[in-house]
Amino acid sequence: MDDFELGRDQGSEIAGKVRTDRLQQLFRQSGAAVFGSYMAAVILCWLCWDRFDHAVVVGWVALLTGSTLLRISMFIGYFRAQPSERTPVRWESWYWSTLVLSAGIWGAGALAVMPADDLLAQAMVMLFTVGMSVSAVSCYSAYGNMTMVSIGLVLLPCSTWLLFQPSTLQVGMALSVFVFASFVASATRKMSGALETSFRLTRELELENRLSVRAARTDELTGLKNRRAFFDEAHKLYLECKGKGSILCVVMLDMDHFKHINDSYGHQVGDQVLRQVGAAISASIRKTDVHGRLGGEEFAILLPDTALDVAMSIAHELIQTIAELKAEPVERITASLGVASSAFTGESLYSLMNSADKALYKAKSYGRNQVAVAE
Ligand code: GH3
Ligand code: MG
Ligand code: MG
Repeated sequence: MDDFELGRDQGSEIAGKVRTDRLQQLFRQSGAAVFGSYMAAVILCWLCWDRFDHAVVVGWVALLTGSTLLRISMFIGYFRAQPSERTPVRWESWYWSTLVLSAGIWGAGALAVMPADDLLAQAMVMLFTVGMSVSAVSCYSAYGNMTMVSIGLVLLPCSTWLLFQPSTLQVGMALSVFVFASFVASATRKMSGALETSFRLTRELELENRLSVRAARTDELTGLKNRRAFFDEAHKLYLECKGKGSILCVVMLDMDHFKHINDSYGHQVGDQVLRQVGAAISASIRKTDVHGRLGGEEFAILLPDTALDVAMSIAHELIQTIAELKAEPVERITASLGVASSAFTGESLYSLMNSADKALYKAKSYGRNQVAVAE
């Protein structure tokens, strides 16, 4: 994968996470709106009980009760779902539908209960619809469009009706509501933009941090664990085996006459051989084993729960695989290996590795391209 593709991949990964963060923020922030909007309608009807048509009030509150129960069940469903199931694809459209339904019922119902000939009741209704839109900003700011749509659905029916009434007071009321709404719209845009930026920066920082931690622990040439990461993991594995009392084997590997390869074919060819050897080691070990490049042309492998004879045969197979590597124009690629095993008679990880290292030099002194075992 080239840098461009990697960047595009990371970009879409971040965009996906930001969308999930916004959804989570929406659910966390808007729970109060479900009860708040229902209570606002109930209080408005209670205050204006003598001024509203009772049949319309009952119908409105009944519809609102239905849409509120639907929204409550959606919230319960979301918070009960596993975090991995709380995806935008699954929840956004459901959220949108219930929001449009309840805001639509609110706006249409407010128009239906508003008496045509009672200015005070009209002012009360407008007061509540404006209050509802202001609270929509604080509840749905993670989704700018939701805020705008819910404000529009709640405010527009009553204020549009008022705009076409004969009295200056009514028209003035409608115009003031539109002015307020424009302030609210601009605040909404800024707030949801700021929220999204903050989510994106957090996710970008998280990704950068993950990448730099990975880079600090990876050997750039072979992609294997570097010395630091190897010893971290090796130490954990050592303690684990010690705890269980199981056998841990160490294999140390050093390329033979590597200086000669570099001197004869150049450093780049040498690098290529190291990459191939790294890949050969990775392919020949098990998932539970820990391996890494300790530096230069030296590698180490830790084999947990492995008897010495099994470790020896793994080492022999590895020597065979390396001898069969093809890296034109290099004619001969060989390595020497040292194996040591611990049945936990008290030696530390370092003394175990030291024993494997001594065995490795024994393999070198016996003529290289072979495995030697620690005494
Ligand atoms: P021996 O069989 O005794 O191990 O001989 P050797 O030549 O392999 O050992 P020596 O320690 O003398 O040389 C190791 C060589 O490995 C020297 C160094 O230039 C080379 N080397 C170390 N790191 C790298 C690397 O990252 N890339 C390349 N191409 N060569 C490297
Ligand atoms: Mg060497
Ligand atoms: Mg060496």
